[in-house]
Amino acid sequence: MSLFDDARRVIAGGVNSPVRAFAGVGGEPVFFRSAGGAWLETEDGRRLIDYVGSWGPMILGHADPDVIEAVVATARRGLSFGAPCVLETRIAEKICAMVPSMERVRMVSSGTEATMSAIRLARGHTGRDTIIKFEGCYHGHSDSLLIKAGSGALTLGVPSSPGVPAGLARDTVTLPFNDIDAVAAAFDELGERLACVIVEPIAGNMNMVPPVPGFLEALRERCSAAGALLIFDEVMTGFRVAQGGAQALYGITPDLTTLGKIVGGGMPAAAFGGRADVMASIAPDGPVYQAGTLSGNPVAMAAGLCTLEKLGAPGFYESLTQRTRDLVDGLAAAASDAGVPLATESAGGMFGFVFSDDAPVRDFAQVAAADTERFRRFFHGMLDAGVYFAPSAFEAGFVSAAHGEDEIAQTLAAARTVFAGLA
Ligand SMILES: *Cc1c(COP(=O)(O)O)cnc(C)c1O
Repeated sequence: MSLFDDARRVIAGGVNSPVRAFAGVGGEPVFFRSAGGAWLETEDGRRLIDYVGSWGPMILGHADPDVIEAVVATARRGLSFGAPCVLETRIAEKICAMVPSMERVRMVSSGTEATMSAIRLARGHTGRDTIIKFEGCYHGHSDSLLIKAGSGALTLGVPSSPGVPAGLARDTVTLPFNDIDAVAAAFDELGERLACVIVEPIAGNMNMVPPVPGFLEALRERCSAAGALLIFDEVMTGFRVAQGGAQALYGITPDLTTLGKIVGGGMPAAAFGGRADVMASIAPDGPVYQAGTLSGNPVAMAAGLCTLEKLGAPGFYESLTQRTRDLVDGLAAAASDAGVPLATESAGGMFGFVFSDDAPVRDFAQVAAADTERFRRFFHGMLDAGVYFAPSAFEAGFVSAAHGEDEIAQTLAAARTVFAGLA
C-alpha cells in the first residue's frame, strides 16, 4: 500500500490541506521525512530542491540552526502557559518596528484566523457589514472570505463552497483584481455601506500577479474618502517581498495588516494589527471579541522572533531578490530557447511563472486561461529531475536564503531539458 493510500484510510482525502493532494497535477503526493536548507528529503530517500518552502514560511531555508535552537530552548521551559509571556512582547515590538503601519498587533495561530479577525474588527469598528475582496485573492477559509462573484462587477456574492451561508455571501462583493474602474463603480454605489476592502497587495494565490500602477493608490484613496478600512493581507508578502512587506515596496499605508507564514518561522503563528485607534476596538479594550487558547504560544513566538531577527542581516533582501531574479530570468530564457511561452514575475524572494503568451499577467482571467496541461508536464518533469515546485499552476513559488548558486544552476539545467520536451 502506498503512503498516500495508507493516509487515506484515516485522514479525509489523505491530506490535512487540499492542495497537498496533487489534484492539480495528477499522481500521488510525495511524503517528506526531513528538510535542511534548500533541500527536502522524501520518505524513500530522494533529495529535492524545494521552491515551496512550506508555502512561504521557510525564508531562511529549512531547519535553520538558530531557529531550531531557539525552539528547543524555549520548549524545554514549557510548551504553553495560556498566560502572558515576554516573548510575545518582543515579537510584537519587532513586527511594529519592521512594519510601521502596525502600531498594535494581536498574535493568532493561522492566516485564516488573522484575516477573519481583521474583517470582524473592520465591521465592528465601522458598524458596517459590506466588504470588498478581489477575484483570485485568497484570504484563508473563513466563511466571509470564501466567496466569489459572477462576472458583473457588482453582482452579489455567491459562496464558492457549500456550507457558506448565502446570507453571508451577500455582504461580500468580489471585484476583478487590478480593475480600478470596478473599484470606483463599487465605491460610488456602496460607499458608506463599506466596512473594508481586503486585498493581497501582490496577489500570490493565483500564481503571482503584481498590482498595476494606481490600483493600490485608488484603494487607499477611496477607502479614506468613504470611511472604510483598507486591509492588506500580507500573510504571504509580509517579510517576503521586502522587510516591510508589499506596503513598503509600494509606499501605501493600510489601516490593518494581516501576517502569517514567515511571522511564525515554520511554527503555527500569524498576526493582525494596524492603527492603534482601530485595534483599541478589540477585546478587552473594546467590544469586538477575539481570542485563542494557543495565541502567542511561546515556542511559536521563539521561532518567529528568531526568524525576523535574522532578516535584518546586512544585504539579506538584496541577495534574496537577486537569487530569485536569477532563477526567474533563467527559467524565462530556457523556456524562450525551447519555444515555450512563459510569463514570469518576481519580487524579493517570491516568484511566479505562467504558461501563457499573454504577458504581462495582471488578472485572474489571464491566469485561468493559461496552459495548465503544460504546467502539469513541467511539474512532473522537474520532480523527476529532483526539483520540487508547488503542485498547482495557481501558486506562487519561494526562494530562501539557503538557495545558493549551485541550487539555481541545477534547477535551470533541469528546466532546459524539461522545457525542450514541452515544446
Ligand atoms: C496562506 C494565506 C492565508 C491563510 O493562511 P493559513 O495560515 O493557511 O490559514 C491567508 N492569506 C494569504 C494571502 C495567504 O497566502
